[in-house]
Amino acid sequence: MIDVEATRAAPPPPPPEAPPAMLPGVYLAKRREAAGVPLDVAARALGLVYGNPSASASGAADYRNQLQLLERDELATLGKDATADLLAALPRVFRFDPNVWLALLAARTNPDLPVPLICRNCACTWNDACSDSGGETCGWVNTAVGEPALCTMCIGAEGPDGGEELRHAA
Ligand SMILES: [Zn+2]
Ligand SMILES: [Zn+2]
Repeated sequence: MIDVEATRAAPPPPPPEAPPAMLPGVYLAKRREAAGVPLDVAARALGLVYGNPSASASGAADYRNQLQLLERDELATLGKDATADLLAALPRVFRFDPNVWLALLAARTNPDLPVPLICRNCACTWNDACSDSGGETCGWVNTAVGEPALCTMCIGAEGPDGGEELRHAA
């Protein structure tokens, strides 16, 4: 006879799942940081891309705010036009894949949509792999099921945010 109470008390273990997709804004911030471009520098560079060099003074603050909204995924506040403009201009400021950003954005509303593998530290992907001084490109580290991907260039190089993960692995 089946013990109903016991059955209820033991829910089936959750299936091994892919880790939740990185937020699109986090992806951008990680790519910017991996490129070594501080927010202020990116804002001034945006002024140049937009053909508005005077932005190096006052207007840069606007671009800085816009970039922060984008990196915080506050797209409603940023507005559609500014979002589109930034997405078009930013690849000239630091290296990232706008298609990855779009895929991550789509996955926010539909988590079943596939997203590419993204390094949890530097946010590189197949389309923009890291390369070292010798021109070698990175590959993927074997991570546990459910653990976010990590690229070979980032082994042991996870920044302050990665401290948690490093302790997990230890
Ligand atoms: Zn990496
Ligand atoms: Zn990499």
